[in-house]
Formats: sequence, C-alpha cells, structure tokens
Amino acid sequence: MQKAVVLGGSYAGLFAARVLSDHADEVVVIEADGQVDGSAGHGAPQRQQLHALLGMGHTQLEVQFPGITRELVDAGALLGSGSAVRFYVDGEQKADVPGDQNQMIGATRPFIERHVRRRVLEIPNVRIQAGRAQDLIIRGSRVVGVHYSAGKATDGTSGPGSELEADLVVDAMGRSSRLGAWLQNHGWDAAPTERMRIDLGYATATFTRGRELPDTVIAHATPGPASGYQPTLCEPGAIAAVEGNRWAVVVSGYAGHRPGRDPDQFRDRMLRCVAPLQEIAQSCEMEGEVLPYSFRESQRREFSRLTRFPGGLVAVGDSVSSVNPIYGQGLTLAALQAASLSAHLRSGVSVHTPAWDYFRRIAGIVDAAWSLSTSADLAQPHVSGPYPRGYRFTRWAADKITQASVVDPIVNTVFMNVLHMRAHPKSLTRPRVLLRTARVLATR
Ligand SMILES: Cc1cc2nc3c(=O)[nH]c(=O)nc-3n(C[C@H](O)[C@H](O)[C@H](O)COP(=O)(O)OP(=O)(O)OC[C@H]3O[C@@H](n4cnc5c(N)ncnc54)[C@H](O)[C@@H]3O)c2cc1C
Repeated sequence: MQKAVVLGGSYAGLFAARVLSDHADEVVVIEADGQVDGSAGHGAPQRQQLHALLGMGHTQLEVQFPGITRELVDAGALLGSGSAVRFYVDGEQKADVPGDQNQMIGATRPFIERHVRRRVLEIPNVRIQAGRAQDLIIRGSRVVGVHYSAGKATDGTSGPGSELEADLVVDAMGRSSRLGAWLQNHGWDAAPTERMRIDLGYATATFTRGRELPDTVIAHATPGPASGYQPTLCEPGAIAAVEGNRWAVVVSGYAGHRPGRDPDQFRDRMLRCVAPLQEIAQSCEMEGEVLPYSFRESQRREFSRLTRFPGGLVAVGDSVSSVNPIYGQGLTLAALQAASLSAHLRSGVSVHTPAWDYFRRIAGIVDAAWSLSTSADLAQPHVSGPYPRGYRFTRWAADKITQASVVDPIVNTVFMNVLHMRAHPKSLTRPRVLLRTARVLATR
C-alpha cells in the first residue's frame, strides 16, 4: 500500500494507524478535534469518564506499543493485581484470582491515550492532520480517497476543503460515524445496525488521594443476582487510583436512577456502595465537578451481513460497536479490531477488494462482547430486548455462575478471563465450569 487514511484519531484510530504503519508507505490520520497537538478535545466527550482497561486491552496495548506499561507507570500510573484489584457483586467481595490474571492499570483515559498518541507520532511514516472528513471518494467498486475540510478555525468553522487519495480508508469516527450515510449517498448499503436501549447514566468525579486504601488500585461493584441486578443491596460504582495522586470515581444507574451533577448525591451514592468507595467519600476531597454522561443505547453495525461493500474501506472501534460502558469493553474491542486488521493485511489480500475476511474476524469478537454485555442488560426490567435465542437458559446459567464466582476462585478465574476478554463467554458453559458451579452452590 502506498497510502492509508484513518478518519478519527482517538483510541481506535491510533491503534489502526499503528498497525497500518507496518503495511503502508504513508499513514495519515485525520482528526476533527484538536488532537494534533495531543490536547484533549470534545470529539469523544466520554474521555472524561473513568475508563478501565481490561486485561486483554492491556495485553494488546503492550503488543502494539512494547514497553508502554513501564512508561505509564514511570509517569504516575499504578499497576495493581491480586487483592489490589477487587470486584464486588451485591456488596460481597469476589473470590481472589491467582497471580497477575487480575492485573489492571490505574490511569485516566486521556493519560493512556496521550502516551499512545505520542508513540504513534514517533512512527516515521505516520502523521496526524487536523481536519474533518466529509465524504468518501468512490470510483467503480472501491474507495479511493476522502474529502475533508482542513483544520478548524477557533470559531468552529471549517477550513477549505481538500481531497486525499488512499489505497485504504479506515473509519474510526466513533459511534456517530456518518459512514453509513456516505455509503448510501454513493448507492451502497449502510451496515445493518442492531440496537439495545438501556438508558444508562454515568457520572465521574475525581478525589484527592492520600494515605487511605494504600493497597487498592481498582475496586468495582455491581448489583447481581441476589438483588435482581437492582441497586438495593449496593450502589454500582468503581474507583481507580490514577496518575497525579488522585482517585477517579464513577457511579452509575439505569432509567430513573441515573446520577446527576449534584456532589452531595454523588457522595451519598458512594456511601451506599462498597467499603472502598465509602472510605473515599468520607475522607477525601472532591476536585472539580461531577461529570455526568448519558448512554441511551448499545449499538453494533454488522458489516459482515452486507452482500455488497466497496473495496479499500474498513471500520474500527465504536463506529463498529459501542456497548454498555459498565463492562469496560470499548478500548479492548478497538485494540482487538486493530489486531484483526493486522492479521487481515498480513494474509496478503488486496486492500482494493472488499475486506470480508476482516469483517468476519471482527464479527466474532464483537459478538462475544455484545452477548456478554447485552445478556446482563436484559436482566434490567426496563430493557425490553431484543432477546437472543436461548436467553432464558443463558440468564439462568449466568446467574448461577456469577453466584459461584463470588465464593469460588476456580469459577471466578474463568469468569474473570471472560470479563477481561481473554476468553469467549462460551467458556463459562463448559461442562467442567457448570459442574463446579453446581458443586459450589450445593455446598454453600
Ligand atoms: C461513559 C462511558 C464510559 C466508558 N468507559 C469505558 C471503559 O471503562 N473501558 C473501555 O474500554 N471503554 C469504555 N468506554 C468506551 C470507549 O470510550 C470507546 O469504546 C472508545 O472511545 C472508542 O474509541 P474510538 O476511537 O472508536 O471512538 P472515539 O473515542 O469516540 O473517537 C472518535 C474520534 O473520531 C473523531 N471524528 C469524528 N468525526 C470525525 C470526522 N468527520 N473527521 C475526523 N475525525 C472525526 C472524533 O473527534 C474523535 O476523536 C466508555 C464509553 C462511555 C460512553
């Protein structure tokens, strides 16, 4: 390939650029929102919310950017494993997971992304350019470039329009990507989109970190089967010790129970959560404001279900799928899709033909993440579907396995491998896991 163009320079776009730098003479990332100098813009407002990087996401980060964990830790991030990373269900602390299998980084998303961006900018054949992509250029059966408006004036208006030719265009424009509309304008079909309305509310606040909880990096609490997945026994929430001696704290709720901006209400929720959140609420000072965020629905665009698609075009990250953030899958999905793109390109196919092989690869990954998050969301009374086939059995089995994982390290290890996206959710229904679950629950 001579040139690859990535539309969107956030997490997925940066990973795609990293992978493409191995296959193209030149990689240009077009980013609409002031990312060129590394400053955080408004293009992905969810950046300010607490982001957890799952185990597989961390592995992929280190695969694409060797040594980055060390850099992050040297710059102030924390690395936790064993009892420094604790998960709670219905207020009860889950069984320990051995060794590093539970290892997680305590850092904010802008901090991790800044380091990733710096590493990408160090790659000689990659450049990031300010601009807003406006349309595809399609000739015959393939995408050959993009129209974009260069730069962005301080009054928000766009600069003059330009064109960029490319062998491969990558849509990394996030969940509001206009790719489908652009394709339709050119006489192609948009990918069918599956949605699940969940009406989730999120709020993040930052607290000073002193001597409290010296052995904690991450704590994460969710309602579970004992409360019918309602916040009656314990409010959902999470904390992460992050760079700059701070705690990032998130609380969440569905439908009528969504958190707002009020700092007192935020603290009240923390006090109704598990011990680590209570301790921070009682002994730490809130820095700045509570930042709420509304997440109406999970969605996935199923490119592999199309029968026609132009060559020279792929999509990554939230433009493909954007699922309930409580399960922290987005960054890991973006990284796994970049890995799939790498495998696809290494297979030697021409990028000028439709990337069916790539879309099939990512369909399996997205499907696993989607089934995990939506099967839990369907336990909420206000979520009305769509229900997948076999949902009642899956729900029943998931409840039992969750209960067993609270007390049993073996079941919890399998469970956490799925949660960290190191294993497919199907591994939870292996006979030996189900047998162990039955035994654990019978003796409890
Ligand atoms: C509240 C909340 C909490 C979350 N928590 C977690 C978590 O704990 N862990 C986790 O892994 N994930 C989490 N996520 C998901 C995560 O934020 C996303 O999966 C991730 O941001 C996807 O990255 P992306 O690059 O695909 O899209 P985005 O980060 O949304 O970036 C899209 C980029 O495209 C640019 N862009 C848009 N249009 C154009 C255009 N026309 N031209 C050029 N550029 C354009 C935008 O400026 C932006 O920079 C959370 C999401 C939310 C909403």
